[in-house]
Amino acid sequence: MMRQTDETPQNELRDVERFTPLDLPSCSPASATSSRITIPAFAGRHCRGKDLAMNRLPRFDTPDVLNQSPPYENIDSFSSDVPLQEAVRANGAGHDAPALADFGRQWGTAEMFALARRANENTPKLYVFDPKGFRRDVVEFHPAYHELMRASVGGGLHASTWTPTGERAAPPAEVARAARYYMAAQVEFGHLCPITMTRAALAALAADPALLAKVSPKVVTASYDPEFRPWWEKPGMTLGMGMTEKQGGTDVRANITTATPGGDFYTIVGHKWFLSAPMCDAFLVLAQAPGGLTCFFVPRFRPDGSVNALRLQRLKDKLGNRSNASSEVEFAGAFALRVGDEGAGVRTIIQMVQLTRLDCGLASAGFMRMALAQAVHHCRYRSVFQRHLYDQPMMRAVLSDLALEVEGAVALIMRLARAFDHAATDPGEAAYARLVTPAAKYWICKTAPSFIYEAMECLGGNGYVEESVLPRLYREAPVNGIWEGSGNVMCLDVLRALRRDQEAADFFGELAHKASPLIGKEAEIFEPKNDFASEAAARITVGKLATLAAAAALQATAPPAVTETFVRTRLARQHAALYGADGIEARTAETLLQRALPEL
Ligand SMILES: Cc1cc2nc3c(=O)[nH]c(=O)nc-3n(C[C@H](O)[C@H](O)[C@H](O)COP(=O)(O)OP(=O)(O)OC[C@H]3O[C@@H](n4cnc5c(N)ncnc54)[C@H](O)[C@@H]3O)c2cc1C
Repeated sequence: MMRQTDETPQNELRDVERFTPLDLPSCSPASATSSRITIPAFAGRHCRGKDLAMNRLPRFDTPDVLNQSPPYENIDSFSSDVPLQEAVRANGAGHDAPALADFGRQWGTAEMFALARRANENTPKLYVFDPKGFRRDVVEFHPAYHELMRASVGGGLHASTWTPTGERAAPPAEVARAARYYMAAQVEFGHLCPITMTRAALAALAADPALLAKVSPKVVTASYDPEFRPWWEKPGMTLGMGMTEKQGGTDVRANITTATPGGDFYTIVGHKWFLSAPMCDAFLVLAQAPGGLTCFFVPRFRPDGSVNALRLQRLKDKLGNRSNASSEVEFAGAFALRVGDEGAGVRTIIQMVQLTRLDCGLASAGFMRMALAQAVHHCRYRSVFQRHLYDQPMMRAVLSDLALEVEGAVALIMRLARAFDHAATDPGEAAYARLVTPAAKYWICKTAPSFIYEAMECLGGNGYVEESVLPRLYREAPVNGIWEGSGNVMCLDVLRALRRDQEAADFFGELAHKASPLIGKEAEIFEPKNDFASEAAARITVGKLATLAAAAALQATAPPAVTETFVRTRLARQHAALYGADGIEARTAETLLQRALPEL
């Protein structure tokens, strides 16, 4: 810093300190756009100290920007992500790589990042009444939201795993979609809520083949139509889900909303405390029918074309997920069609929920990927004490540890997508999906918030500022842990699978046994008992299961040194929950960072 001299008045000194980067290397804007800058010796070009000392008014135009990274945009989110490419290949979708690279380039443009920002800055608005007091119950979204919806629907994120007749598309449809979803979630997540629910809803609608036959051709299209009109008149439709009530979201059996049969339809009276994406064309809703909790198809319009009785009460003021509207709704005698048997509501809708849980894991892994890429990118340009952050030993320890976490997360979630591809024909894959879906959701969604915070810190103050992507990712992250079954509920679900499904329990045992040589000792295998102690320890068990499964998945996708480091730092001992404290060997750190974001 400039030292004070007798000739330098104190208030002028403050200006000099602020605007004179005396201790910083200087780099030209031209060099800042090259792939990796070199640091020219400090030229003192911007030092105005002498002028100030001569007591002239400090002239301060917008100066050259020094030592900042260029924006991380206009990227190819597929080709710049080696772990993703390898996971796609290992799980059977390698032939899709050119199309995935097209998708990655489309979603990596500056325009897409700008749409994401606009959709979140201009949050949806609820219009309950029109000016004359008639009910409207509509939510208006910013055009940017609709653009994002159009891009996701166009890319098949809402339906590419289904045929137009509502059957499962052939493998590797799940893996190919998962890769696209992972890339889209890196850019904007709020709009993916209706996308996720739409694609998942067909699994529940399978309980009513006649209804499925009518709905699926409207879902499995590349058309997004945001108009508020009956679904059967539209070229494409979206679907939402209503389960959570004021008195309980986990315990849906406590639902008090009622469904009264009348001819070939039901009338729903009650409420939902959370109903996201309320402009979806129809919802799968749980309600108490005479035969017990039942799943219903509740459209926004009745068959006669009149607006159905869904009264949107208000929109939630949420921590994140702001481009997406989440409403509270009352059903004032709403028209509904039954899906599945009376009393089979949970069994019916759980088919949908399994798929939405996969998307939670995918999205959170995507958030982590974007946070990592931003951090690595920034550190490659930013210098502190005459040296790029990227080359500073402690920063490399942090970045490589973050990269290792993403390696595990993406390997696991893409392996899980493959299980969904094959579950219908392979009982082993079905057991994998049953056990690993809640475990992966638990582990990845729990990891994301602290991970993003650490990545944010790599960008210093820039990371904390709203215009950067990091604050939005950080606010977004907790929701995936909460909805579609919160953390503890996921753990209970794993325990249930281990107790009830011998194939799932055997699979866990096998996984632990295979990992033993890697860990250097026999892996402890959890013996699930139906007692309080099992539940109290369930987070440890499920964390272990998820990391075991991630290590196994990594064996198929990553170089041995990466897998070994993952096992050593995440399985052989408790991960410090503090990135950069694992002692990752220098060569492996380099491998991890080049895989995370290859230097061009
Ligand atoms: C932004 C947002 C959008 C949403 N959109 C929708 C939507 O569109 N449709 C919809 O139906 N719902 C939606 N939800 C609701 C969401 O699914 C529920 O909030 C969630 O399922 C948890 O239910 P709850 O809030 O009633 O919490 P509770 O059920 O009260 O659970 C509170 C906590 O207790 C834990 N817990 C529960 N049981 C046990 C147990 N036996 N042992 C130990 N711990 C336990 C849970 O893990 C959780 O952490 C949305 C939520 C959010 C935040």
